[in-house]
Amino acid sequence: MITLVMWYSPVGILFLITGQIISTTDLTETGQTLAMYIATEMAGLAIHLLVVLPGLYCVLTRKNPYSIHLKAIQALITALATSSSAATLPVTMQCVEQRMKMDTRISRFILPVGATVNMDGGAVFAAIAPMFIAQYNGISLTFGDVIIISLTAVLSSVGSAGVPGSGFAMLLFVLKAIGLPERGISFLVTVDWLMDRFRTMVNVASDCLVVGVVSHYTKLSPSDTSETQGEPLREEQEMLENDLV
Ligand code: ASP
Repeated sequence: MITLVMWYSPVGILFLITGQIISTTDLTETGQTLAMYIATEMAGLAIHLLVVLPGLYCVLTRKNPYSIHLKAIQALITALATSSSAATLPVTMQCVEQRMKMDTRISRFILPVGATVNMDGGAVFAAIAPMFIAQYNGISLTFGDVIIISLTAVLSSVGSAGVPGSGFAMLLFVLKAIGLPERGISFLVTVDWLMDRFRTMVNVASDCLVVGVVSHYTKLSPSDTSETQGEPLREEQEMLENDLV
């Protein structure tokens, strides 16, 4: 059934977008609003990636946050290419353990949890996209609406999975929370393949910084291999020797 839906979905999306374009009276204005939406989301993600997250890291650890970004660059590029925090996880682990030299006990606990629940980029998207929908439908939002959007955006980002487009699916919950119509959402589909890549990059960068913060406070030495770090390999070796695997 899922295979059938996956094969059919490009056709469905094509008709969804075509229908929306035909029903739009002023295409130029809609195009401008969409361009504004892309610029706003890009700016939001850039501020979060380059100012908010590094600022928090710097305050909490008194270390240079940009060195973490540099060491995690391979994971960030993989996130950009795959649009999936989950698919990027092995590369993120490699960067954190080998380039950032973090303890595996921290990275192997924090990163899988982060790839599942820590979606900062998704939260930025889920806060900005409803604004676009409201503007497209000519609805002005009150301060209370903005607060509700912010809260539901954070909650929906926690609930979204680390796979391509999951943040987009969660957008419907945010729209429902303040009673916004879904009209105009198909315009967002046209650009989401691009926006998803950038928000996944922010999600992965945030996971790496969290590992840095936890590592700073737990003070576990990266070279501390005394407890769990070497054991799985040793056990595997013993099992191999005993022909158990
Ligand atoms: N694609 C994103 C991720 O994997 C989730 C999202 O769609 O916001 O992190």
